[in-house]
Amino acid sequence: MINLISDTVTKPTAEMINVMMTAEVGDDVFKADPSINKLELTLSQMFGKSSGLFCPSGTMTNQIAIKTHTNPMDELICDKLSHVYKYENGGYAYNSGIGLKLIEGTNGKIKPDQLNNVINPDYDWLPTSKLVCIENSCNAGGGSYYTLEETKAISDKTKELGLLLHLDGARLFNVLAETGDSPLEVGKCFDSISICFSKGLGAPVGSILLGDEAFIKKARKIRKAMGGGMRQAGYLASACQYAIENNVSRLKIDNERAKDLGDTLEDCSFVKKVIPVHTNILIFDLREDLYAEEFLKRLEEKGVLASAFGPQKIRFVTHLDVSEENIETVKSVLKELSYDFHN
Ligand SMILES: *Cc1c(COP(=O)(O)O)cnc(C)c1O
Repeated sequence: MINLISDTVTKPTAEMINVMMTAEVGDDVFKADPSINKLELTLSQMFGKSSGLFCPSGTMTNQIAIKTHTNPMDELICDKLSHVYKYENGGYAYNSGIGLKLIEGTNGKIKPDQLNNVINPDYDWLPTSKLVCIENSCNAGGGSYYTLEETKAISDKTKELGLLLHLDGARLFNVLAETGDSPLEVGKCFDSISICFSKGLGAPVGSILLGDEAFIKKARKIRKAMGGGMRQAGYLASACQYAIENNVSRLKIDNERAKDLGDTLEDCSFVKKVIPVHTNILIFDLREDLYAEEFLKRLEEKGVLASAFGPQKIRFVTHLDVSEENIETVKSVLKELSYDFHN
């Protein structure tokens, strides 16, 4: 089976497992795990932040960031396709007791001026506009991304409006592989950054939250309260360290392969529209008479797994466990299905 369901499906290589098995570890609740300390230092220096916090998942790093930045009755502002809104069980309300204001962007991307219209005046009965979260790349936006210039413009606008800015950078390295933007410059734009190691980077578990010292000090307490204080988790952090050192440079390949599949899909009879492909995510709409459930079944019969992103929407994600040969196979399968559905 060729698995395009997500870039989270990758399994550690023998070399990564070897690094994990020989990791130096300690009790991270006492800040005594050398592998975690090293990973936190590596990433915080890379993005020019003073501190980092290793966590089990990207949902946890996002949720901790939201809780650290806000108080109950505040409001979070984000695009309507955001992961923090759609795929975290309404955690912003559950964990932080805050409200949410949605912006209708373009393929998950918001424009600075859209923020002007969503700020609440300071009335007794209106939630306090506090935090903006942008996603880069935008998952449900088909892997679209913000360039440094666009990011800077949003950062300047949030500062002007007195708002904080969080980056859900689950797949930030897929973006940097395209733009070549400097992590240090990207880092300057945000009050906090979340990055996943268990997506395209190929680690089995782990995400990191970056910010200044006071922010991470509070975030550490919240991580503990959420049950995310891990002990000898250096076994996991060492896999993430390995991923950062070895798997970043190949992300461009995944992006190119997604674009390649996108080009093939443009000519397929079952496709209504392909969202422009920019990174390793590919989302397309099926023709009006076709449904995701049936299409995915037909795809699976031919050895390819993918996911439904709506009743008539399909998502493919490329990653390091999908080879060039696999991509050629998927392209043939898509052409066969195009013939089958042509009537
Ligand atoms: C995957 C993902 C996350 C975090 O997901 P976890 O599965 O909790 O690690 C956050 N944001 C985006 C955009 C994601 O794609």
